This record gives sequence, C-alpha cells and structure tokens, in this order.
Amino acid sequence: MSYITNLKCKECGQEYPVAPLHVCETCFGPLEVGYDYAKIRAAISREKIESRPRNLWRYRELLPVDGEAEAGPHSGFTPLVHCKRLGAELGMKHLYVKDDTVNHPTLSYKDRVVSVAITKAREFGFTTVSCASTGNLATAVAAHAARAGLKCFIFMPEGVEAGKIVGSTIYGAQVITIRGNYDDVNRLCSEIADKYGWAFVNINLRPYYTEGAKTFGFEVAEQLGWKLPDHIVVPTAGGTILPKVAKAFKELKEVGLVKGPEFKIYSAQAAGSAPVIHALHKGVDLITPVKPDTIAKSIAIGNPADGYYVLRAVRESGGWGDSATDPEIIEAIKLLARTEGIFAEPAGGTTLAVALKLIKQGRIKPDETTVVSITGNGYKTLEAVAGAIERPFVIDARLGEFDALFERLGDGKRAAASA
Ligand SMILES: *Cc1c(COP(=O)(O)O)cnc(C)c1O
Ligand SMILES: [Zn+2]
Repeated sequence: MSYITNLKCKECGQEYPVAPLHVCETCFGPLEVGYDYAKIRAAISREKIESRPRNLWRYRELLPVDGEAEAGPHSGFTPLVHCKRLGAELGMKHLYVKDDTVNHPTLSYKDRVVSVAITKAREFGFTTVSCASTGNLATAVAAHAARAGLKCFIFMPEGVEAGKIVGSTIYGAQVITIRGNYDDVNRLCSEIADKYGWAFVNINLRPYYTEGAKTFGFEVAEQLGWKLPDHIVVPTAGGTILPKVAKAFKELKEVGLVKGPEFKIYSAQAAGSAPVIHALHKGVDLITPVKPDTIAKSIAIGNPADGYYVLRAVRESGGWGDSATDPEIIEAIKLLARTEGIFAEPAGGTTLAVALKLIKQGRIKPDETTVVSITGNGYKTLEAVAGAIERPFVIDARLGEFDALFERLGDGKRAAASA
C-alpha cells in the first residue's frame, strides 16, 4: 500500500508520474514526492508505529515505496543519547545527541537514504546502482547493493579517506576515483546516468533517496516522546538532510503524530566548505560556490545542490547556522568522545562545534531541548584526528617500569610526561 500521489516540482508545481525522474522539464527545478496526507493520517498512529520493528521502515507510510522494504531491514532507529556529562560541562540540561555513528550497516546517516533509494531502484527494475559520493554514501550504496544482489559502481573524488575506499571495495563494488573534487564527480555522474541508464541513488533517484533522510527527524521526535525539540543542529553538505528533517517534523504535525513545540533548525558547515553559511550570514539567497578545503571531507561540497532549500528551512524556522574551523572540529570530536563515549567523524565534530557556538551566542538557552546530529563514525576517519591525540607510552613488561611511569603521571604531570 502506497500513499504517494506523484512527483511535483518544488519550484513551479508541475506534476509528474512516479518514475526515475528528478528535474522539472519546464523550469529545471528539483522534483519532490507528494503524499496523500489525509489518508496517511487515517492509517497511522503512535501505537502502530511503536509496535513495529526498530528500524527506519516503521515510518513506511511516510516513505515513497510501494511494497515491502528491499533494503535496510536493520537501518535506522539509532539511539538518541541524553548527554548528561557533556550537558553539565555546557550548562545544558536537555542536550541530546542523535547518534548515527552506529547506523547499520555502514555507520552513517547515509544508510537511511540508501535503504529507501535501493528499495525504489528494485521497484523500478534497475539492476545496476551507482552514486557520486564524498565517501559515506559510497560505503552505504556498496553494502546495501551487495545485500540486494545489485551491480554497483561507485564514483568518488581522489583523496577521500582510505577507510571509505576499502569500505566500498570490500562489498564487491567497482570503485572509481576521479581526478577532481566532488562537484567534478557529480557532473560526470549526471552524464553517465543519462548514457548508461543506471540508478544513481543521488541523481536520477534523488527524489526518493532524499525522503529517506526524514527518518532521522521522525526518530528524534518519537524518541523525545512524540515531541519536537526546541533546537536541532544539522550538518550541511549537499543540503539533503537538513530540509528533510524540517519536512519530517512538519509531516508529523500534519498527520497528527506530534503537536509542538515550534522547532528551530540550524545548519553546521566546516569553515573550509561553508557556502551555505556565507549566504545565510550575508542574508542573501544566492549561494556562491567555493573550493572545499577541510578535514571534514564527507561534508566538503562546494556547490551544494540543495543549498537554497537549507537556507529556506533555516530561515522559515527562525534558526541560524555557523561554521567551524578544522581545529575546532577536532576539539569537538575529542570533547564528545571524552564526555559521552561517542566517537564522531569530522562532520559530527563540525555539528557539535557549531552547537557550542550557538549556545555561547545565547541562541540556544540552557533549559531548552537541543539535539545535535552526529551523522558519521570516527572509526572511518582515523587520519583526521590521529595527529591530534597523545601517543601511548611504551614500556617493558616489568612492574617496576609501570610503577615509575605511574609515579610520573601523578599530580597532573601527565601532560609533561607525554610531551
Ligand atoms: C552526507 C553526509 C552529511 C550531510 O550531507 P547532505 O548532503 O547535506 O545531506 C552529513 N554527515 C555525514 C557524515 C555525511 O556523510
Ligand atoms: Zn518546475
């Protein structure tokens, strides 16, 4: 049973049939999936959702698929962690991390969008799936394609972390790196999609793919006890997840699953790739592309396809946004690890670093419910922090050596001993 009505142009409103289309023929605007919300409202309830398996398909009425899930049976429903120790350091009582570092099976938010895209690719009858990726999407497409028995081609810019190349190739995908940045890769992939007729999850299946990102927002609301947070900070790369989290919150209201409060949504970008934040701070709609230069490679997109919709969602909610430098990102990764035992990749460090700024700026107040979106796992990007942590001590296997070391480490001398 499907509740999709059509595809609809986000700009001029022209309607299209449910097919592997993504651009409006009239105005070149992006297409978005339309639903029959009245029907969904009658069909679902909190109890019904809560009775289902703990994965992202528990919200299937609000996802653009017709039949059974063909991918991601264990994806989504990641923890919403109440951060008591981090909160105490920041003076925040209701600080939460939505922890997609443990998304199944590839440890990032991309398992959500790909679960939906691969299911849709199967429904449309595709046998080859592909993507243009900064890394995390690559690993997710490769893994979900393997399980669904689909052929898979992955395109990434050269210079992505080794973990992302190994982490895609291992699943049997054909991995191709391109001399150039993500925006070059994306341009090439549009041409390949046209010529070869493959399902590019983030190109010709983009309207379906992006809907998967809503599940991040659905889960946050359910996990807060069917309430929206006062504030949610979300990273921005191509601009998929942020507007879709906002859409998710609005849809939950539309179908009667939550009432309030009004939420504010905030964009976080790395200072070395912050075209959306530049436009936000200047108060303009036009996003001027930049050449990315940051350790936060998974969010290093200099010409974000949906950047304009990020601006719109942020402004509509009364939110804001900021950027974080590489050293700030690394400090935030260490802070989250040290206080909450969660190891985020640089995208997560970016989000937390920006949340710290928003708190300092007084935009987020101490007693307001605040969610920091941690979208990827630090074990996939060890090189980003390897140079910024203490090296282990090396001693012989003799108790006397350890005694001497322990003595030296005492009374706060640890820093001096390891220098
Ligand atoms: C892809 C990605 C994002 C966000 O990208 P959008 O294109 O803006 O949706 C955030 N964090 C991580 C770790 C990612 O891989
Ligand atoms: Zn249009």
